[in-house]
Amino acid sequence: MQQQSWILPGGYIDAAGAIHREVELTALTGREEELLARMDTPSAELVTEIIARCVRRVGAIEPVTAEIARGLLVGDRQYILLLLRQLTFGDKVQATISCPWRDCGERIDIDFNISEVPVTRCEQPQAFYRMQVEPDMLAGSDIPGLQAGTPLEIEFRLPNGADQEVVGPYVAHNQSEALTLLLTRCIKSIGQNEQAVAEIINALCGKARHQIECEMEAHAPSVELTMETDCPECGRSFIAPFELQDFFFGELKVSTDLLYREVHYLAFHYHWSEEEIMRMPRERRRQYLDVLTDEIERLNDAAG
Ligand SMILES: [Zn+2]
Repeated sequence: MQQQSWILPGGYIDAAGAIHREVELTALTGREEELLARMDTPSAELVTEIIARCVRRVGAIEPVTAEIARGLLVGDRQYILLLLRQLTFGDKVQATISCPWRDCGERIDIDFNISEVPVTRCEQPQAFYRMQVEPDMLAGSDIPGLQAGTPLEIEFRLPNGADQEVVGPYVAHNQSEALTLLLTRCIKSIGQNEQAVAEIINALCGKARHQIECEMEAHAPSVELTMETDCPECGRSFIAPFELQDFFFGELKVSTDLLYREVHYLAFHYHWSEEEIMRMPRERRRQYLDVLTDEIERLNDAAG
């Protein structure tokens, strides 16, 4: 039996301040594959739905609702996707990318193990963090009510799935607006006046915004989504980013045709209901298909 529980790199902090870090997962079943096959592009909403379906427990929280899945930190959600990929397809990932050097562009196979993907864990996760933006970083900002030469005090929380769902649609067409929205959601207080968060964020210069963003990243748990690799064709090395959602969902996007064919085949020979077969993890379904294939070959050999 494979390990079924893991420790989140960040953790879920509930309303009472208790932290929940242990997760229990189940592999994807035919139902999730069907859901994925029907989606055109991976979205934060889909990640929320997959997590709510496949995560049985987060610490003492059970069942894991969509609301809880949304409340998980971005890095924790990425970590869960990696684990689900590992549970459903095994540890080894085989992907093909193009060498980014213009004069080369050769297709390269890259293989790696999920268990070797570096994960940055939080030492002591907190619900809120405090920071200061120093006056010299505020030179281009015109902040209402802030005296010149005084640092800006900020208290923030780390971005979670709910933020990804709201901010996601803005990222593609307006990065700056996306960051403003994210900061407005994650900053609990800024400066002296708790009410004026949005107004002050709008008044911040690029330098100050960048510093806040970096500070958030420094505290957040994360999954390393780039790897250094060498091109066997031109011999140069480069950093290859991999879009976790794309590779994860891309791989899972079996055609519904194939899925229904498998269901039909199992139902036909074993007389199980569609409902029962769709509840099976992919691996189990494939094992029965292998047994059936062997059996049919054996019968054919005996007949011939
Ligand atoms: Zn190359």
